Amino acid sequence: MPRRLFIPIIFLTMLSACGGTPASSPSEVASPASTESQLEALATTSLLADIAQHVAGERVHIESILPVGADPHSYQYTPQDVAKVADAKLLILFDDTSYETFLEPLLLTAGGDTEFVFAGAGVGKRADLDLGGFDPHLWLDPNNIIRCVENIREGLTHLDPTGAAVFKSNADAYVAELQSLDAWIVEQVNQIPAERRLLVTNHESLGYFAERYGFTIVGSVLESFSSGASPSAQQMAALIDQIKSSGAPAIFLDAGDNPALAQQIADEMGIRVVADLHLESLTDGAPAGTYIDLMKYNVTQIVTALK
Ligand SMILES: [Zn+2]
Repeated sequence: MPRRLFIPIIFLTMLSACGGTPASSPSEVASPASTESQLEALATTSLLADIAQHVAGERVHIESILPVGADPHSYQYTPQDVAKVADAKLLILFDDTSYETFLEPLLLTAGGDTEFVFAGAGVGKRADLDLGGFDPHLWLDPNNIIRCVENIREGLTHLDPTGAAVFKSNADAYVAELQSLDAWIVEQVNQIPAERRLLVTNHESLGYFAERYGFTIVGSVLESFSSGASPSAQQMAALIDQIKSSGAPAIFLDAGDNPALAQQIADEMGIRVVADLHLESLTDGAPAGTYIDLMKYNVTQIVTALK
């Protein structure tokens, strides 16, 4: 069972009892330059850092803990991450540690006095106990990001109250971009005949996207909300039956997925594999250098394969 359903948007936690002491060098305290320098905050993933940076603008620099391309489902934190988290005043995560599973042990090791922003708080979460609780992939519906932006704006305002008006205006501008993105996706998806709006993925990552844009999730190779699962022969046979009866024309994989099982199924059934979606991480520059570019890129790949 999932550990938590609703979490306060912001809470303060002191982990000093766990042995961590925030590092602060005498030069940082004494230097007038450092007090005037840009504020810093951490976000768990590259995707979330980009979203938060749009709200923060030039007042706060947002750094991602995960490097571009890392899989949040299986990330192992580094000693550098421990140092960063120990120093961080604000850490932005999607919702809870069922996605960012590296975070809980990392926080316990780092200690420090960090304020958290649960960006996804208040988003209606998809749940499926067979697939392992809650679906974390809420960012694949831009309407959920609008809620994240509001939570991030509140968190940044708490960190830097004098920036309130700037964060509000940045958030409003970004929300307008997200609304245009949503309208653009609807237009693109309309090119796919309704009976071909069928999604097979490696692990179940496109549920929020499917619900928003009228797709049916036929199944997933790993039958899990996480990339860490492994399927049984029975599950594979069931998926093959589901693909056959639905007529799904393609299997969609993240660029970081191992394509072997999907390719085996696709070869057997004469359907295609689209192996280069970017669902969990930005790319370094094109094609998915920002959240909005990532969505446009994925939608274009999906529409091209299904229309
Ligand atoms: Zn995933």
